[in-house]
Amino acid sequence: MSKLISGKIISSQIKEELRNEIENLKKRGLEPCLAVILVGEDPASAVYVRNKKRTCEELGIRSVGHDLPETISQDELENLVNDLNNDSSVHGILNQFPLPNGLDESSVIRTISPEKDVDGLNPLNAGLIAMGQPSFISCTPYGVLQMLKRSNISTSGKNAVVLGRSNLVGRPIATLLSSKGWDSTVTVCHSRTEKLAEITSQADILIAAIGIPQFVTANMVKEGSVVIDVGINSIEDPSKKSGTRLVGDVAFDEVQEKTSMITPVPGGVGPMTIAMLMVNTVNAARLQNGLSELEI
Ligand code: NAD
Repeated sequence: MSKLISGKIISSQIKEELRNEIENLKKRGLEPCLAVILVGEDPASAVYVRNKKRTCEELGIRSVGHDLPETISQDELENLVNDLNNDSSVHGILNQFPLPNGLDESSVIRTISPEKDVDGLNPLNAGLIAMGQPSFISCTPYGVLQMLKRSNISTSGKNAVVLGRSNLVGRPIATLLSSKGWDSTVTVCHSRTEKLAEITSQADILIAAIGIPQFVTANMVKEGSVVIDVGINSIEDPSKKSGTRLVGDVAFDEVQEKTSMITPVPGGVGPMTIAMLMVNTVNAARLQNGLSELEI
């Protein structure tokens, strides 16, 4: 029987640690502040933004919301980002994606000052991570690493297989796991990978980040392995009042019979992502005020 890696529990521990740290910073006159930009009316994005602001509030981080109409121009949006870059009371800037059609996400990402890029998406920060140098790690990959670390899962010398190569999730996880300190031997699989099941079934640690509901089945995993499910997919479920439920990229029930440890969905990587955004925001505030990064 597999042991559950609970993102709910681990993220609560991290948030508790942060709460103390934020109290101490406030006593020294420093209030961490996150600016959150939401463009348009996408309901899922609105929920994500609400959750992020609520978590800020819970922890004592000031959040400043900028809700903008989808008719906003690229220049107007980037002017706002530049104003926030120049505002020393704002330590982190997050622009919720996806942006409405017609707006260029990568240009916005490049406009956010690397010092305030708490999503870790700016090419400078992503490049530093690729070179094994300290910088903001994007929140979902950072959350995955914390789950491994805080569950005492040894990664050194292990075969790690990452399903997915997106800039947001798969690629940074693969980069980090192969870097010094984590020391895994990493294989990245994607939509063109051949003989996928042969590769995944060699994995001591399997990370699924592809966005296909319950794609990873028991025959694809190694006995005794660790499986981290990043996927969040909504599927139809007539037994639910809403008619839908959330599942991951892993067929949880059958896969958990073979693994030693596994993350659930929901309650797995999802809550970690928000917790790590809070860590990055506190670190941004510390670094911008001459303090060192927190040991997390
Ligand atoms: P994406 O669509 O940008 O990338 C998907 C990746 O999967 C691509 O690299 C693609 O090559 C690969 N892929 C697609 N089909 C495949 C197949 N049949 N076999 C192997 N690889 C295949 O998605 P993303 O942004 O990386 O997100 C992945 C999943 O993670 C989604 O379900 C998303 O909702 C979820 N997600 C969760 C969190 C969280 O906080 N838990 C955060 C971000 C994303």
